[in-house]
Amino acid sequence: MSDPRYAWMDGEIVEWGDARLHVDTQCVLGGLNAYEVVGAFWSPERENLYLFRIDEHLRRLRFSTKVMRLPIRFSDADLRTAAQKLVSLNEFREDVSIRIVAYFGAGPVFSYLPTDISTGVFMAAKAVGEKFRRPGLHLCTAGWHRLPDTVAPPRVKAGANYHNVRLAQIQAKVDGYDDAVLINAAGKVCELPLSNIFLVRSGVLLTPDVASGILEGITRQTVLELGRQLGIEVGERPLDRSELYAADEAFATTTLSGITPILSIDRYPVGDGSAGPVTERLRTAVEEAVRDPGNRRWATPVYDGRRSS
Ligand code: PMP
Repeated sequence: MSDPRYAWMDGEIVEWGDARLHVDTQCVLGGLNAYEVVGAFWSPERENLYLFRIDEHLRRLRFSTKVMRLPIRFSDADLRTAAQKLVSLNEFREDVSIRIVAYFGAGPVFSYLPTDISTGVFMAAKAVGEKFRRPGLHLCTAGWHRLPDTVAPPRVKAGANYHNVRLAQIQAKVDGYDDAVLINAAGKVCELPLSNIFLVRSGVLLTPDVASGILEGITRQTVLELGRQLGIEVGERPLDRSELYAADEAFATTTLSGITPILSIDRYPVGDGSAGPVTERLRTAVEEAVRDPGNRRWATPVYDGRRSS
């Protein structure tokens, strides 16, 4: 897949090859950034791309940067317009990932205060490709625990937090699994390295509550809302590890791939080892929601330049 033509850096559209940060930035040295990955989904019927829930992503970015004391000089409206412009200038006609990164730049040696370090924001938009649509996942439980809130809160989407989940992800791949489920320091189910997790037990849709040490996923929220609308009973509570093995169905949720069925965990089949009916209903509902501009609250069209809400 070829590189896109443009990126966005600190208020300017730049050629892709010119989107660079110096090695002497805290972003490069310590991974000190907060970021969002926003999906833009292509609707072949309408020949348009739709940014999905960008306002919620920007709200989460504000929260992450607040906790990190990382000042951003752009408003949400600036960032929304910049994301639309970047995607449209690149002339994408397929699903796109837009990474919006607020970062700490350079400062004197061992400086920590935001007033001592420069800050900035950049965006990179890339075609997603097919690899994000996986038919199902075979998972293990990770030996590495998820970072607790007392150490580095997972609800803050900081680049540096991804060292933790990458260890779990790499362990899983080396051991022959697709991915891992992380357990929190209290021994409860947490999330996957890049996704939230849902179980279905006796028809009830369950997901770890927000105090289980998770990233508060926007797809997670979408699934809870759509599930309620479909009349499915939903529950957010701490989940035991053994409930992973007791579940009739399980799936992972994340922005770029929506819902992906989980087929086995630690080589125990989930249900009968294929995607279950609740998973399929919700997968269809999410797929429709991300491409449906009729949903006025969630979709922002790219090519006619107007907001849908
Ligand atoms: N958990 C983690 C750790 C993630 O990185 C992601 C991806 N952003 C998610 C969950 C899913 O969040 P969302 O639905 O907002 O993409």
